[in-house]
Amino acid sequence: MLQFPIYLDNHATTRMDPRVLEAMLPYFTENFGNAASRNHSFGWVAEEAVEKGRKQIADLIGATSKEIVLTSGATESNNLAIKGVAEMYAQKGNHIITAATEHKAVLDTCKRLEKHGCRVTYLPVGQDGLVDLDQLREAITDKTVLVSIMYGNNEIGTIQPVREIGAICREKGVLFHTDGTQAVGKIPVSVLTDNIDLMSFSAHKMYGPKGVGGLYVRRKNPRVQLTAQMDGGGHERGFRSGTLNVPGIVGLGKAAELCSLGMTQEIARASELRDRLKDKLLSELDETYINGSVDHRLPHNLNISFAYVEGESLLMGINDIAVSSGSACTSATLEPSYVLKALGAGDDLAHSSIRFGIGRFNTDEEIDYTANKVIEVVRKLRDLSPLYEMVKEGVDLSKVEWAAH
Ligand SMILES: *Cc1c(COP(=O)(O)O)cnc(C)c1O
Repeated sequence: MLQFPIYLDNHATTRMDPRVLEAMLPYFTENFGNAASRNHSFGWVAEEAVEKGRKQIADLIGATSKEIVLTSGATESNNLAIKGVAEMYAQKGNHIITAATEHKAVLDTCKRLEKHGCRVTYLPVGQDGLVDLDQLREAITDKTVLVSIMYGNNEIGTIQPVREIGAICREKGVLFHTDGTQAVGKIPVSVLTDNIDLMSFSAHKMYGPKGVGGLYVRRKNPRVQLTAQMDGGGHERGFRSGTLNVPGIVGLGKAAELCSLGMTQEIARASELRDRLKDKLLSELDETYINGSVDHRLPHNLNISFAYVEGESLLMGINDIAVSSGSACTSATLEPSYVLKALGAGDDLAHSSIRFGIGRFNTDEEIDYTANKVIEVVRKLRDLSPLYEMVKEGVDLSKVEWAAH
């Protein structure tokens, strides 16, 4: 039985796995201690749970427990990594390199630093959404202290060549941060083989609770130092003060463990569902384009532009399916997505795009319903579109001289 609305917005957040909730529950009530209380068993029990969670997330990414700084989520982790490096290494230089398609938590952090005298290079991306490694290499100067390039993109699912980026950074003696929020738990990520020095992640993007996440901070070859952004009791080895969110950390750990155990099957299943959706849409609808690389892509992401259809009208037409459009996802105004624009998409195609984010709890029936519904609504909207009609009659729209009004 289908249940509505169907949730296909798993890049925005994921439903918490019931097994995660079950693991968390005792830490709200009977085991309510403060993990920093050293003098009694309430504190010891909480600390033990935190250390278990820390180990579980460390294991998922090939790190050690001591390299995990627990935070409130990926936004905070990105802030801590970028501002923390900029402040700590200010003597060495003031230049940061990032990419145009990063999450706002990275871009706006960089903008803030520009106001404080940092110089930031925003690398462009190709039509496939990938950064160019030669451009990266050329952008690095002796003033560069950090390269921050995300692992998997939250809109178009593009997986960057993280290992190669890390290798270039290592060769040049520059620290490498990656926003791993969309990749960790979904595809194999190893901070060791991927040459990562700092990596942000978040529990609620991997079937865990909201409001908890972390930052991987490398401890050797090289040992990364950071200036804390939150001062206080000196928790988390001084990197991030504040009483630990014990139930949240238990949930983060459990979510990491479940992702690790099921990863191979989940990758196969998500890509199967994604390809089923993609194949149906592309075979039934013309003037339909996939945004971002098809090969270097998260298995659960599909981002498609339906030319001659307004994204907002399409969203309204499929309002029993929860997805995001390329115009609504970054702001309340109808700005076309800056990520799609960075790929070179025109405003029209950016406005007509839909992001489908497939997750652990989606079913075959949901995918089939979605494909059929989208096909039906796109056809209906195009029947009403004079532009689409002209194109079908063979008119070259680029040659049409529109009357001014
Ligand atoms: C969701 C997301 C974030 C923000 O994570 P929060 O834990 O919600 O702060 C950062 N980066 C990417 C790529 C994301 O998808």
